[in-house]
Amino acid sequence: MVTLIAEEHVLAPKAAMTVELRQGQVLRVTDLEGQQVVDMAVWNLHNLREKLSTSYSRTRYFPPEGQSFRPRMTVQQGDWVMSGLCRPLMTILTETADPPGTHGVHHRMCNAFFYASHGAGIRDGCFEQLAAVAAPYGVPAEDIPDSFDIFQNYPYDVDAEGFLVKDPVTRPGDYIEFRAEMDLLVALSNCPDDEVAAANAFHCTSTGVQVRDDPEWVARPVLDPREWLLEQLRVRGIDPLGAAHV
Ligand SMILES: [Zn+2]
Repeated sequence: MVTLIAEEHVLAPKAAMTVELRQGQVLRVTDLEGQQVVDMAVWNLHNLREKLSTSYSRTRYFPPEGQSFRPRMTVQQGDWVMSGLCRPLMTILTETADPPGTHGVHHRMCNAFFYASHGAGIRDGCFEQLAAVAAPYGVPAEDIPDSFDIFQNYPYDVDAEGFLVKDPVTRPGDYIEFRAEMDLLVALSNCPDDEVAAANAFHCTSTGVQVRDDPEWVARPVLDPREWLLEQLRVRGIDPLGAAHV
């Protein structure tokens, strides 16, 4: 699939921005210098009450043939980014980082409380940054969803019985691409943490943001969640009246 740049931005360190995507457009987020996390919030552009759900993104998927269902630790290339109504906002098309799926999708973002409680004083985090750029759309701060923390290396350590914040695995130029499955509002925060945790390897850098067009994209109706689910069963040959096998 060949896509063409429609919009291009460089998001400065510790800054945030919004982009609007039309269905079929591709958002490419590029870690220009490596080891920089970007916290992302996503809304249905035409109903801002429908927003990103990282929990559904991890746990609502069709298990591949022959595999049993298992709630996942992360999402990666080929997976959906789901809304709170449990339908796809986006599809992850491509990731270049190794290993893929190295993202924070279990926790909320850094915020003033996080910095203050770690002795870093009162300063803004990704929450305040995302709230500031979402406000012109009429999105109140309390409606910022739990974020998809792109490139965050945040594995669960069984022995330590907790999550670890590790240096990101991204190298300069690594990117991820998301295709919009409906018209979207996306807010991106270049994570400003350069002193409390290793989220950005203690060094905040710029991020490349592109909106790309797919010239071959054919518009699709955005189905309501139940219609969408029935369509997914139909294309997989799953009987909607069938017995559960969990
Ligand atoms: Zn942050």
